[in-house]
Amino acid sequence: MTQTSITRSWVASANGHADFPLQNLPLGVFSIAGSAPRCGVAIGEHIFDLQVALEAGLFDGAARSAVEATRDGQLNAFFQLGSAARVALRERLLELFSEGSTLRGNIEAQGAKLLPLAADCQMHLPARISDYTDFYVGIEHAQNVGKLFRPDNPLLPNYKYVPIGYHGRASTVRASGTDVRRPHGQTLPAGASEPTFGPCARLDYELELGIWIGQGNALGEPIAIGDAAEHIAGFCLLNDWSARDIQAWEYQPLGPFLSKSFLTSVSPWVVTAEALAPFRAAQAPRPEGDPQPLPYLFDPRDQAAGALDIELEVLLLTERMREQNLPAQRLTLSNTRYMYWTVAQMVAHHSVNGCQLQAGDLFGSGTLSGPESGQFGSLLEITEGGKKPIELASGEVRKFLEDGDEIILRARCARDGYASIGFGECRGKVLAAR
Ligand code: MN
Repeated sequence: MTQTSITRSWVASANGHADFPLQNLPLGVFSIAGSAPRCGVAIGEHIFDLQVALEAGLFDGAARSAVEATRDGQLNAFFQLGSAARVALRERLLELFSEGSTLRGNIEAQGAKLLPLAADCQMHLPARISDYTDFYVGIEHAQNVGKLFRPDNPLLPNYKYVPIGYHGRASTVRASGTDVRRPHGQTLPAGASEPTFGPCARLDYELELGIWIGQGNALGEPIAIGDAAEHIAGFCLLNDWSARDIQAWEYQPLGPFLSKSFLTSVSPWVVTAEALAPFRAAQAPRPEGDPQPLPYLFDPRDQAAGALDIELEVLLLTERMREQNLPAQRLTLSNTRYMYWTVAQMVAHHSVNGCQLQAGDLFGSGTLSGPESGQFGSLLEITEGGKKPIELASGEVRKFLEDGDEIILRARCARDGYASIGFGECRGKVLAAR
């Protein structure tokens, strides 16, 4: 069954759902009323409990093996099985939930035990994250930020040869809905020669695509660019919360450290490579004069279809907006097409020295800004480092985030002839420093 041949589900709320129609079927980990976390699939307003479905005998063959790998309530073992298992599960889910399915009665008979409302569930991280790496492949962001510090030379000479990245902190990645506590740290006040210690005064967000690693590699065995797609299980939204004043003082010479490691938020649903297949695109041609990628980073198939066309949005909801019943205000509308390197290039580069990737590792793309105002993926860029505050519909002004501010990331894929899919939200609210 192809993506286009099935358009409707007997789950009424799935049809036309902004995020989770039948064509998406993302995987995640949820719990109900304090139960142990378990793996499920989002469909419309519901979550399909894979453990209950397994016990009800709804799977056999490869799909059954795939679901058995989710029994521990995390997706790592399932990710390690690779694309064949994902495809087998997806095919079976399409059979179970398409309009006219002969198994509708079996599923409905189990009621909310098998298909609870998502609103009654709590979402968790989808996998145990051993390692988290944050890249810097959003070239517009790299240029915008570079310009603030080096107006004549915004991009450093390595940028167009190396997918730049740094090792992030896996232990502080959390699912959407986790509050972000304003961190303390060292900062160097303007004009001062010695730092002060105190709460961050320039708290920011970064709009990023998250990439979940599927099958890992053995230590010492690089993943070839042509095989990289097989090692990607799926995608999420990622907010790389950033303390800009702490970052500015600490980042030289080894890069970000405490300015990033206090929290990273991800949307909880893993949107699979299969669900995103219709929204693949050719990688934008490099501008005249840019170097060709080195051979280990170049694959014609990846260049032809390895980019993604995903619309990305950032919204801000302040305390006052909540009090005045104002809707969240859009700060950013961008797209994953502004990546200078593809996700396959990120995987190939990360492992080219023999570094081991493991199922459930998480990559961040780096901030994905577009070239125009309204497309900037951080307040650092929008306000030019605090020099140009923005005015909000509530009458408030922002240079950076204030206590009580909530940042909401959303994503949407749309293409003529295909059902639109979304990612669900990645939310986080700023709490005052302790
Ligand atoms: Mn980042």
